[in-house]
Amino acid sequence: MCDRFNLDDDDQDKSVSVSNVVFHRFKKKLVESNYQMNCRKCQQNRGSVLLQKKDVFCNDCLIGHCTKTFRTTIGKSRLLKSEDKILVGFSGGLSSVALVDLIRRRLDEEQFQKLRFIPSLLFIDESILDNERQIFLTKELFEFICQAKMDCYFISLQSCIGDFSNHIVMKDDTMTIQNIKDFFVQNNHSECAQRFLQNINKFRDPTLKYDFLQRFRYLILMKMAYHLNMDKVFVASTLNELSVGLMNNISLGRGIIGPNEINFCDNRYGSILLLRPMCELVSKEVVFYLKFRKLDHIPCKPDFLTSTRFPLKSSLHRLNEHFLTSLSEEFPSTIHTVFKTGNKIKSTTSTVVSLIRCKFCLAQLENQSDDKYSSYDALRLTSILSIGSEQQSSSCIDGEKFSHYCYSCSRLCNEINDKTDQFEQFCILSSLLIAKDENQSL
Ligand SMILES: [Zn+2]
Ligand SMILES: [Zn+2]
Repeated sequence: MCDRFNLDDDDQDKSVSVSNVVFHRFKKKLVESNYQMNCRKCQQNRGSVLLQKKDVFCNDCLIGHCTKTFRTTIGKSRLLKSEDKILVGFSGGLSSVALVDLIRRRLDEEQFQKLRFIPSLLFIDESILDNERQIFLTKELFEFICQAKMDCYFISLQSCIGDFSNHIVMKDDTMTIQNIKDFFVQNNHSECAQRFLQNINKFRDPTLKYDFLQRFRYLILMKMAYHLNMDKVFVASTLNELSVGLMNNISLGRGIIGPNEINFCDNRYGSILLLRPMCELVSKEVVFYLKFRKLDHIPCKPDFLTSTRFPLKSSLHRLNEHFLTSLSEEFPSTIHTVFKTGNKIKSTTSTVVSLIRCKFCLAQLENQSDDKYSSYDALRLTSILSIGSEQQSSSCIDGEKFSHYCYSCSRLCNEINDKTDQFEQFCILSSLLIAKDENQSL
């Protein structure tokens, strides 16, 4: 039916609803032009992608649009300084490949020499989460890293609870893909790997497991940034991911860190800022950017816990993602609205010292606020009344341990902890931040 325009399958099959007048008009125009409309930007080239159900772009203009959005997002924040050392979280997923390509192109161009930052990549191997222990670092991905000409650090997910300095770095062509794979295989057989698996398998609920891993990845990235003396951290979250993330945070009782996790800048982690330079690009733009830049041959990293691997109702994350995605099919501005609304909420966490933050997610603790009749107090009273005195002594929901975690993290903590505080080994950043706070106050 349509060979030039990449309309979603649904767009072609579904009858257009009355509310979607814009798309209806566009489709009429498209049929009249025999599916050969020109790009709305340059008005010359044939269009090859349809965005927001009405904007036709050609290859060059889409690349230009993504590049401009990326640069404007960084530029208007005025947070980056010249010669800043930046650690870029590189998962091998679509958006992270696009991010590295955008950074590399920016560095190549002379006109941006004034604001030249020094990027390094960090690849976290998550093969421990896969039952078959298959290492994701493919040949295509390895070649892409080599071509990017940036230092790349490799670390295993489980190493972060043991010897944190157990990582390797690739600075030139001396390292081969086999060296790196051997390193990861060796890590998967270490004592840390056993301990990590034992704990992670305690999560019976996929919602909690996903929530835990998502936060733990951020902690690894930030701790590594401190370890390597970096100035900033980049992550490749797109507008879609951030909007779904906001819905997840609200449904999990993490509303307090909602603003931190949707804004361009997340200042929860002390002196090193976590920045999201792709936050104004939607996933569809990123996918076509890669296609037009001829980078779509690189296989996309599988997520061991989300997407279609599990049934729709298996976790809140899956459900929220499905809800927003299906709503966006009919109303493409939905995700933009969620994103903009999230950006208007102000965070209080950045002004709080580390001592009164959750040890795991670093959110401001409600139990430390001046309000003595908060929802936290109500919840605590309910917990004490509902669990027997016998359970109270062994459970971390009561007592001093509970006071170190926010509501949502104490749920994670409860899943993992037995009689000993096993969860503490995952709080890899709290001690570092507390030490920094103490140094500052001296
Ligand atoms: Zn064009
Ligand atoms: Zn927390």
